[in-house]
Amino acid sequence: MSATDAGAESPALMNTYGRLPVSFTHGDGVYLFDSEGRRYFDAIAGIGVNALGHSHPAVTAAITEQAGKLIHTSNLYHIELQRQLAEKLCAVAAMDNCFFGNSGAEANEAAIKLARLHGHGQGIKSPAIIVMENSFHGRTMATLSATGNRKIQAGFEPLVQGFVRAPYSDIAALENIAENNADVIAVLVEPLQGEGGVIVPHDGYLRELRELCDHQGWLLMLDEVQSGLCRSGHWFACQGEAVRPDVITTAKALANGVPISACLASGDAATVFAQGNHGSTYGGNPLACAAALAVINTMQEQQLATRAGELGARMQASFNEHLGDLELVTDIRGRGLMLGIELAVPCAELVVRAMQQGFLINVTAGNTVRLLPPLIMDDQQANELSEALITLIKDFAAAYSSRAAST
Ligand SMILES: *Cc1c(COP(=O)(O)O)cnc(C)c1O
Repeated sequence: MSATDAGAESPALMNTYGRLPVSFTHGDGVYLFDSEGRRYFDAIAGIGVNALGHSHPAVTAAITEQAGKLIHTSNLYHIELQRQLAEKLCAVAAMDNCFFGNSGAEANEAAIKLARLHGHGQGIKSPAIIVMENSFHGRTMATLSATGNRKIQAGFEPLVQGFVRAPYSDIAALENIAENNADVIAVLVEPLQGEGGVIVPHDGYLRELRELCDHQGWLLMLDEVQSGLCRSGHWFACQGEAVRPDVITTAKALANGVPISACLASGDAATVFAQGNHGSTYGGNPLACAAALAVINTMQEQQLATRAGELGARMQASFNEHLGDLELVTDIRGRGLMLGIELAVPCAELVVRAMQQGFLINVTAGNTVRLLPPLIMDDQQANELSEALITLIKDFAAAYSSRAAST
């Protein structure tokens, strides 16, 4: 196979991904360029990772400067940049302390271990964590066991025990579990579900969760791997309901693509881990921390939380205006620049159609167009994206109804 055969898979790679037949050579802001020089508007941003777009000068400078000084030393030693990042991240998240890993799944592993240790500290021998239907928490054994999607679990049994499943956005179901299960010590939940189809819970859900957890003595643990770091229109989505959880996990946008994640804790949860309880060789290394500091500083300087909220509201309004009346469009939803357009039929083919027109989008849960564009879009780019999506979905709806009419 030749090196230019960008559309084909190598037998040297395990066959875990169904990939689109394109490969990119470089990026600039919201745009990616393929090996033939074609330009694409990246409206999925590496699955919510490239919040500052591609080749952001502040991130590039931080990485290149740090790479020339020091990449890794391990947590056998103090790491000055890790200390700075922890303080900065805790400040914007209003949390007390944090642990750094390298992926979203690892951040959730830390949260799950923290909750179990907390439970054992209370004399509960078999502590249980409530998790939601339709959730996504990662692909490691504990996180896929916590995930509410059988497709992700199938074939990997035996699953990790100690999870109790409940419907999303349903407080009564949790009250019912509280009455019947004395082993519950925590709730792990996404403030809005990403992979599950950009599902937004009812207003007040997080506040009600906070009250219930306080009443039961449970830890409230929010998986903000996707919704965190300005994406939802707030630094963290929980701030939209003025809720302070016991644990927040975050990852995707943290270093704009350099692998790093964090498990943040507040109050009693912040004192659960002691030396030797958890660790990671790479976690919070100087290179990743330098990149993450550049990201957080840029998000602060450019007030990207507010910006994401405004742009997202504008885009949703535009989708509502132009797509809301289509029979095929069943829902338009999201928070900030985490947007979903749900159709009445499976619509995975839209990804290919959009790509042919120079737009990279994603379809999740089979029938929901998901947008996670870079937060640094300017007004004109946001309009360009909205207009392209509206045309794409209108054309799809028209083709669908004429197909339906001819059969
Ligand atoms: C992406 C994601 C994860 C997993 O992150 P990885 O970095 O792929 O391990 C976990 N939780 C949520 C909500 C996510 O969106």
